Amino acid sequence: MKAIAVKPRQPHSVHLAELPKPKVSDVPNGRGVLVKVLKVGVDATDREIDEGLYGAPPPGYDFLVIGHESFGIVQEVGPNVRHVKPGDYVTCTVRRPGSSIFDRIGRSDITSEETYYERGINLLHGYMTEYFVDDAEFVVLMPASIKHLHVLAEPMSVAAKAVQQAYEAQRRLQVWNPRVAYVTGAGQIGLLTTLILRLRGVEVYTIARAAKPNLKAEIAAGLGATYISSRETPLAELAKQTGKPDLIIEATGSSAIAFECMSVLNLNGAMVWTSITGGQKKTEVFSDKINLEWVLGNKLLLGSVNANFRHFELGIADMAQGEIVYPGVIRKILTHPVNGLDSYQEVIRLLTEEKQALKVFVNVAEG
Ligand code: BGC
Ligand code: ZN
Repeated sequence: MKAIAVKPRQPHSVHLAELPKPKVSDVPNGRGVLVKVLKVGVDATDREIDEGLYGAPPPGYDFLVIGHESFGIVQEVGPNVRHVKPGDYVTCTVRRPGSSIFDRIGRSDITSEETYYERGINLLHGYMTEYFVDDAEFVVLMPASIKHLHVLAEPMSVAAKAVQQAYEAQRRLQVWNPRVAYVTGAGQIGLLTTLILRLRGVEVYTIARAAKPNLKAEIAAGLGATYISSRETPLAELAKQTGKPDLIIEATGSSAIAFECMSVLNLNGAMVWTSITGGQKKTEVFSDKINLEWVLGNKLLLGSVNANFRHFELGIADMAQGEIVYPGVIRKILTHPVNGLDSYQEVIRLLTEEKQALKVFVNVAEG
């Protein structure tokens, strides 16, 4: 079967590879789930992989099949699989366990080992192919009623984890109840985070560069948030208007902005970084000021990567609720479909050149 692959660390090496079709019995203990791939999304991580900044092939291969945002239909399950059956729509988690204690309790997203395994990113082939098989432990059921949101399940899981981790960590404050949140970046993670926080009743400012009107602003407004162009209103200025934010979720992909945000967070606030920045950029920061304010203000900075089964479930539940509270808004993120695995060059072109693309995804098969 066909697969879209790259030669990791070799810029612009995307090509079609050939893989054998997997079998349910490839997974031990009757726990295999064979999935026919319907759609696969790509994001900034795939762009960095294409640029040769990120990613590694599985041992024994000189190529890596890309694609970590999966959506498909179950074809066959092993005898010990209970929670999904043929005909179900599913997505699949990205990271696979190593051997730390965290990996062993089903939390490979917080592994304490340096080496991590991620399908389509690091050391494991991804989903940009016709079929995949995996252990039922990693296969997440998607209600048929939100199947039109397909590949957003994975980015949504990343957003769900980021927010959940912030709330979890802020229990250190006993009565923390965020009033104002800034979401920096209005790509898929920024917009999906906006959704989650709005569903929790937070006053959300979604901040990106482009001036209004634009699609990101339209989606943010559709979710009941206020879209701010950072070109028109710098962060410090905004903080004067809204009061300092109690929570900042950073998803711009710019490490400089990640640091800049540190100077506006409210007392007792939490800030979560979600961007993967594979480059070598440096920036200057007012380190004395930030250090002082963060100590005096008991502020928290949290890094959050990847997501596990439970975060996928949380994210899927929030997308379903989002369709009720803000009908028809979330699907607007799915801007750029590409038909068929043969169109791999078009996928990369849209990902790297199309500035208006919020989400590029491949229609691999009908279903
Ligand atoms: C994926 C995560 C992954 C991260 C870093 C993101 O694009 O959504 O699942 O952990 O990249 O590899
Ligand atoms: Zn992704």
